[in-house]
Formats: sequence, C-alpha cells, structure tokens
Amino acid sequence: MENNQQDNEKDLVEILVSYKGSKVWAYNISGTSILVCPICKSSYFFSESDLMNHLISHAKGYIEKRRGTPSRQFIRREEG
Ligand SMILES: [Zn+2]
Repeated sequence: MENNQQDNEKDLVEILVSYKGSKVWAYNISGTSILVCPICKSSYFFSESDLMNHLISHAKGYIEKRRGTPSRQFIRREEG
C-alpha cells in the first residue's frame, strides 16, 4: 500500500540562494520561480530580497514570537 503525500506538500527543491554576499539554503517549488522559506515552509517569495528579509525576521525572532507587546510592558511581580 502506498501512502500518498498530502496535496499541500509541494514538490520542493533545495537551492542555494545568494543575495548581497549572503548565501542561504532555501526551497524552490519545482517548475516555478517561487522561493519557499526553509524555516517555516509556509511563506512564498518571488524574489531573493523578499526571502532574505523574511529570513532576517526569523533570525531576529519577529516571526516566532507574535505577541507584539513592547518590552516596556514587562511588569515585574514581587510576591511573598
Ligand atoms: Zn519563514
């Protein structure tokens, strides 16, 4: 018996993207010029610069942490 892959699993090809001297591995959807984020695999890009901006956001934690609350809202609780 064969286990069919899910429809939303596109045919991804690993490619090396170079942009402004930086080289990163990313995914390309086979047969298209669409780049896919190698980290979340749910963001698609049509240019290297868009992909790089997205990766930088990952690196800075802008995407993982979507709380959006500024750090100055940090309230220190002292109990006891
Ligand atoms: Zn991503």
